[in-house]
Amino acid sequence: MAHFGGPVCKLCRREGEKLFLKGSRCLSPKCSFERRAYPPGQHGRDAQFRRGRASDYHRQLREKQKARRIYGVLERQFRRYFREAQRRPGLTGSNLLSILESRLDNVVYRLGFAESRAHARQLVGHGHFTVNGRRTNIPSLIVGPNDVVAVREGSRKRQYFRDLRSALENRPPVPEWLALNTTELSGSVLRRPERSDIDLTINDQLIVEYYSR
Ligand code: SF4
Repeated sequence: MAHFGGPVCKLCRREGEKLFLKGSRCLSPKCSFERRAYPPGQHGRDAQFRRGRASDYHRQLREKQKARRIYGVLERQFRRYFREAQRRPGLTGSNLLSILESRLDNVVYRLGFAESRAHARQLVGHGHFTVNGRRTNIPSLIVGPNDVVAVREGSRKRQYFRDLRSALENRPPVPEWLALNTTELSGSVLRRPERSDIDLTINDQLIVEYYSR
């Protein structure tokens, strides 16, 4: 279960926008990007004034990196997802985002069971979830229509999940491709997510161009 283990706020500063990788901290004044909205490193502050027009390659690379970082996926796996997206009918860029959204850690996050994708990955890794009644600890598992993701029976007694029930009642609605059951602490996948369901400012066409070079 390899994932980036360094300081994630630097990733937002590198990409020049908030990627919301740390849950509630991202919405607080403690957000590093709010305080230092320039690239990390010794010359980061100077770099923001030196930036000229970015090359096509630079824009494509940054977009790919941004998507990878939002979903917390390493390069090899991301490339694998891209190849799978190419095999599926339809637009490769939309297919790629649909695959990324269908990862179990993302679904746990979208259902509101975790405050960030990294947190969701940790909860899944610790075996707190089942998919169709079977315990799993694989955050990269791809779920599909009719799959049911639920907090494991034994984990529901934990304080975190006991508090979660009331928090879920006050949260914004889940995306239309999912259905949340707050009483059961579970969620169903109604259909595959489409590009229009994904509220991220990722230009997937640039990612397709990056891998088509
Ligand atoms: Fe990015 Fe969140 Fe860190 Fe702000 S707090 S820099 S949005 S990860």
